[in-house]
Amino acid sequence: MKMNRVLLIAILYLLMVIPEMQAQNNEQKPNFVIILADDLGYGDLGYTGSTQIRTPNIDALAAEGVVFDQGYVSAPVCGPSRAGLMTGRNQVTFGFDNNPIVDLPQFDNNFVGIPVEINTIANRLGELGYVNGLIGKWHLGDAAHFHPLKRGFHEVWTYPHGGHHYFKSEPEGKGYLSPIECNYKTPEPITYITDDKGDECVDFIRRHKDEQFFLYASFNAPHTPLQATEEDLKLYSHIEDKNRRTYCAMVHRLDVNVGRIVSELKEHDLYDNTVIVFLSDNGGPVSGKNPWTINAPLRGSKGILLEGGIRVPFTMTWPKGIEAGAAYDKLVSALDITPTFVALAGGDIPAKEKMDGVNIFPFINGDNAGEPHPDMKWRFTISASIREADWKLVRLPDRLPMLYNLKNDIAEQNDVADQHRERVVRMLKTLGDWDVSCPQVLYLEGNPWRRNQIDLYDKEYQLVQPEVN
Ligand code: CA
Repeated sequence: MKMNRVLLIAILYLLMVIPEMQAQNNEQKPNFVIILADDLGYGDLGYTGSTQIRTPNIDALAAEGVVFDQGYVSAPVCGPSRAGLMTGRNQVTFGFDNNPIVDLPQFDNNFVGIPVEINTIANRLGELGYVNGLIGKWHLGDAAHFHPLKRGFHEVWTYPHGGHHYFKSEPEGKGYLSPIECNYKTPEPITYITDDKGDECVDFIRRHKDEQFFLYASFNAPHTPLQATEEDLKLYSHIEDKNRRTYCAMVHRLDVNVGRIVSELKEHDLYDNTVIVFLSDNGGPVSGKNPWTINAPLRGSKGILLEGGIRVPFTMTWPKGIEAGAAYDKLVSALDITPTFVALAGGDIPAKEKMDGVNIFPFINGDNAGEPHPDMKWRFTISASIREADWKLVRLPDRLPMLYNLKNDIAEQNDVADQHRERVVRMLKTLGDWDVSCPQVLYLEGNPWRRNQIDLYDKEYQLVQPEVN
């Protein structure tokens, strides 16, 4: 009898204490924001050395957090890069090698997306009690089963394709004129889409300020079409080339809206305990006679595996957990974001899910002095690449493998494969073993896209910033 009373008191005590403990735990969990730029040139931000474009808000995020000097994405174009970002797995391990454009008739739209059995970051954070919002570009499949609301997001303001007109959409519009789809309100007509996305991000934060949230702010800026407001164009009226002038204005407007997101977090005292990652989904496109993006000091472009295609501006800011002004110079990948966020939210990812990304937080804060990635590998349609320490090998179908030492040749100008044949053979074998371990691609882009890549490897690139103006 006495024992039963003790037990009863103990149970009552636990019933009182457990909810309070859970509330305290919840209080300590950070919010998460990914701010993704689209096709941003590596050298087109203040903090990455631009002499022309001013980005005070993005620079402030970099100054208040950690800058990844060697931050990579897993593909040099939008769709596969985002598939990696959203899953923490290298997308070629589930056949998502290409942009989701089915221009070859034998491929079925029902397979063009992240396979439904693979968890997304939103699935994982949702299970940990987070409310998840996607504002902007998705580009991870059109079929109903690939819709972001089926992939873990609770709220969306989105369109399915790879880009969007900046000033308008049409009710029956296709492609870049697609209507905006939103599940929490009737979308207003587009004013300037970068501002509209900023509005929705601010609104999301305001409505969910008392919950744990994950906001995926998926800007299409500064992806084509090159369209800016008259007001912003005036800021760069001194730049003669119209495409470059418009692009600068677009990056400026992106920066303004990054500032609005940060201000809203500060307004609700959420900034200190929000992990904000800023990055681009791939490098700046460098094509035609007068390219408008600058990846300096990197060589290459969107669409290829030279550094200019895959090394991106990449920062992580979390005042409560990461020292301001830090730089981290070891290899880091966009694939690391999912496992890092899940770990910081108190979750676990079972080993059988075979993540390629790792929780980088212990590396950033100094608890782990090792390397998050002893090597890093890429496969993109006709090309493949492997990075080991300072060495990078690139494999193409029409020439011998190329080897660069990035420590003293960040612009990959000196192919030293001839002088390091044993290393080349070893790296080629490691890359080949991985390559054949990946499944067959689920679908392919047409030949023109693949041919275009070869031409981009042979192009001349601007490796230094222009003089001011
Ligand atoms: Ca892109």
